[in-house]
Amino acid sequence: DPTQMADWQIAEAAEQNIKPIQEIAAKLGLQEGELIPMGRNVAKIDYNTTWNRVKDLVPGKYVDVTAISPTPLGEGKTTTTMGLVEGLAKIGKKPVGAIRQPSGGPTFNIKGSAAGGGLAQCIPLAPFSLGLTGDIDAITNAHNLCMVALTARMQHENNYDDERLAQIGIPRLDIDPDRVQMKWAMDFCAQSLRNITIGKGGPMDGYEMESGFQITVSSEIMAILAVASSLRDLRERIGRMVVAYSRSGAEVTTADLEVDGAMTAIMLEAINPTLVQTIEGNPVLVHAGPFANIAIGQSSVIADMLGTRMGDYLITESGFGADIGYEKFWNLKCRYSGLKPDAVVIVATVRALKMHGGGPEVKPGKPLDAAYTDEDLELLEAGCSNLIAHIEIVKKSGATPVVCINGFYTDTPAEHELVRKISEANGARCAVSEHWLKGGEGAVELAQAVVAACEEEHAFAHLYNLDLPLKDRVEKIATEIYGADGVEWSDEAEEKINLFQADPDVSKMGMCMVKTHLSLSHDPDLKGAPKGWILPIRDVLIYKGAGFVVPVAGAIKLLPGTGSNPGFRKIDVDVDTGKVTGLF
Ligand code: ADP
Ligand code: MG
Repeated sequence: DPTQMADWQIAEAAEQNIKPIQEIAAKLGLQEGELIPMGRNVAKIDYNTTWNRVKDLVPGKYVDVTAISPTPLGEGKTTTTMGLVEGLAKIGKKPVGAIRQPSGGPTFNIKGSAAGGGLAQCIPLAPFSLGLTGDIDAITNAHNLCMVALTARMQHENNYDDERLAQIGIPRLDIDPDRVQMKWAMDFCAQSLRNITIGKGGPMDGYEMESGFQITVSSEIMAILAVASSLRDLRERIGRMVVAYSRSGAEVTTADLEVDGAMTAIMLEAINPTLVQTIEGNPVLVHAGPFANIAIGQSSVIADMLGTRMGDYLITESGFGADIGYEKFWNLKCRYSGLKPDAVVIVATVRALKMHGGGPEVKPGKPLDAAYTDEDLELLEAGCSNLIAHIEIVKKSGATPVVCINGFYTDTPAEHELVRKISEANGARCAVSEHWLKGGEGAVELAQAVVAACEEEHAFAHLYNLDLPLKDRVEKIATEIYGADGVEWSDEAEEKINLFQADPDVSKMGMCMVKTHLSLSHDPDLKGAPKGWILPIRDVLIYKGAGFVVPVAGAIKLLPGTGSNPGFRKIDVDVDTGKVTGLF
């Protein structure tokens, strides 16, 4: 009974019946040499060999799971992704799930497991949550190797005169210590490392300057892993990363530091997705886990390319709501993969809709107000303005929307009926799903709705072409997706975007918006579907490796902090069985 157990206890019980990973691989039709087992229940899939075999197969149906604007608690996208995989298997399909690898930062801090919840989770939970097959470690190492290359170069250029540099055969890059773009990386929330001084001591102890750390999942290398479509593409993107600028303003790349090859060498295994299973023994690919602001915030292009050729339904998740997560899926991820979604699931909860209708603040660690657990149709109906806006966004892309009411056991039938009526009146299918409580059996209605939506005629098309000027793209996203009246540019942002527009390499890059996920607008306090507002763009960043121009309409924290009641306090090991306990 999931209402009486923590997610990790449910996972532990399910792991008594976990299948050998070879059995899961067989469901995908994987062949000899394509599976790289990493223990009994986890494996990597050799991307290159497998892709060469499957690349000409007709892709299966492609389904993205997104959501309405969530509460800070999350409305169950991953849970629904897992539930839909189970539901599709129940009605005789061959589904594959694809989700992100969780970051150690949130795992030990606030979020706990990111494997789904209740009876809709992937297992084995402890390895999934605690580093899995080491991809994030590889990114940490590749990233820090780049910092080693940069800082050593700065030291040597400082200590040696031009003649000596010429003898060694390296050109002077003349790196400006005030314009170093990269920081060191570690995958924890460590606020005391945000701002540090490095190189203290003498000339043999490095070059003294201000530096800092960022969380590994915010590394550009993670952003690259999520969008790369081959090893060649990964190698080239890593080589284009801009690490710093010279005193004369020239870009200093990883290729200038001659470290791009070594960084790629560290990333060799990380390009292969990891295979795990759902509680009911269906395949799930876990690959990449980039930030949702300066990157796409979703699992990899490679996992989706493979997964659509290995099952008849690939179910993936795009972070946060349709405004920010699905928009990046639609205009960035699908452009890189060449895939087109057949259906898009919009996860809605009664709780979040009531919050949009004007319900009291919802906060992690704070008990839920009774407004959220008692029936209140008026509050719910008022909040459906947010749901309708998200349905419209999905419809604009040409994919078929399916609203999934992620059922909580405190919801009432009348509340579900109301949301269903409003969804259908706005041109979306709707299914109430109880996968959290019942697993696949609870998701049959959702699975049937998704199958029907995929069969329906649809014509997916990107919102803009890459030759649309950068400024016009931002205006289009702001007005047509977020519902703004227009865009207001700071002087700095305007100057930068005009410069980027003038550079033909940059003006054709992708566009990755930074905006809060808690509102359709830039202001997290504006709930529902805000009208009569202007989107302020205060800065524009650029990531040449990932290939993103990044307009900034929200706060970017590259290194979150650990709070006063962090999750690690509850995590332990049962020393008799060796099992991990307390992963929420
Ligand atoms: P998201 O992927 O949208 O961030 P998750 O799927 O990780 O959200 O779910 C967030 C949390 O909510 C998890 O702890 C999960 O167990 C819980 N949760 C999700 N769906 C339900 C549900 N239907 N009933 C109760 N708890 C749920
Ligand atoms: Mg999630």
